Amino acid sequence: MVSGAEASLPGRQRREPPPFRRAVVARRSPLGGRLVRVTLAGPELEGFPVPPPAASVRVLLPSPGSALVVPVWTGNEYLLPEGRRPVLRTLTPRAVDPERAVLELDVLVHGEGAASQWAAGATVGSPVAVSGPGRGAVLDPGASAYLVAGDETALAAVAQLLECLPATTAVTVVLETAEPGATVALPGHPGADVRWVVLPPGARPGDALVRAVVETGIEPGTALWAAGEAAAMQRLRRHLFDELGLARSGAAVRGYWKMGRAGDVESTGAPQAPPPGG
Ligand SMILES: Cc1cc2nc3c(=O)[nH]c(=O)nc-3n(C[C@H](O)[C@H](O)[C@H](O)COP(=O)(O)OP(=O)(O)OC[C@H]3O[C@@H](n4cnc5c(N)ncnc54)[C@H](O)[C@@H]3O)c2cc1C
Repeated sequence: MVSGAEASLPGRQRREPPPFRRAVVARRSPLGGRLVRVTLAGPELEGFPVPPPAASVRVLLPSPGSALVVPVWTGNEYLLPEGRRPVLRTLTPRAVDPERAVLELDVLVHGEGAASQWAAGATVGSPVAVSGPGRGAVLDPGASAYLVAGDETALAAVAQLLECLPATTAVTVVLETAEPGATVALPGHPGADVRWVVLPPGARPGDALVRAVVETGIEPGTALWAAGEAAAMQRLRRHLFDELGLARSGAAVRGYWKMGRAGDVESTGAPQAPPPGG
């Protein structure tokens, strides 16, 4: 795995991500909770590869007050012609229809932040571009049960996992919202037990989620997928791998955003490196 620090060493070349495909906002609809579904459309989305569940796309947003300019890959990062970094955010392609040339994103409106503000106010017809997809979850067909945990940024991925996991698999889903009542309907799964926890005011993001996962416990044979704030996911990894001694191969734990840091968990604009444990 290439860490963020290693990746930005001078001279290091990184694999060029898939090219950006231009599109426009075709629809914006509230999904419930703090999520907004933004539907992108445009002929360049034709043939967009249908990703596995919990995959990612890099979304290029217009810089404030500017037209959308597709950046150039320098060998290590994307840069705009005048040398500035573009506004790029990582989101989950919730649905992709390569024939209709449509791609849907479920975006959390959390307040400040380019993606949040874009989802809250993007007008139909406004330009955007996407690159991807990046890797997604590899489901374990041998797992007797699944524990799926995430905050509101992970809801699109969690919904996809519920759509893909076999109907015979027992799935415990633990979700954290930072706003009481801001829950979202998820796809039905006959084996799913969905539990929402609310982050108390002033608590660190992910605290309620990590506590709920710890209290739920993990039976042998259970596979785990979790995503949320990076430091919370680090606390979860410590619990799972250091305290419980769980095999890293049975769990994928992904930092999706970092408290106090704008932009991606990996900031160079390069493709995401595989997270520890998947
Ligand atoms: C693989 C992957 C898939 C993802 N899928 C989705 C998705 O489908 N939908 C989605 O909404 N997000 C998703 N995310 C998370 C998203 O990329 C980050 O939340 C991103 O920081 C949002 O960008 P922004 O421009 O709104 O805020 P930024 O400009 O990045 O950040 C501005 C400020 O807001 C804070 N902030 C960022 N996110 C949150 C948050 N969730 N709650 C509170 N404060 C926050 C930052 O710490 C910073 O202080 C995904 C991330 C990854 C790595």
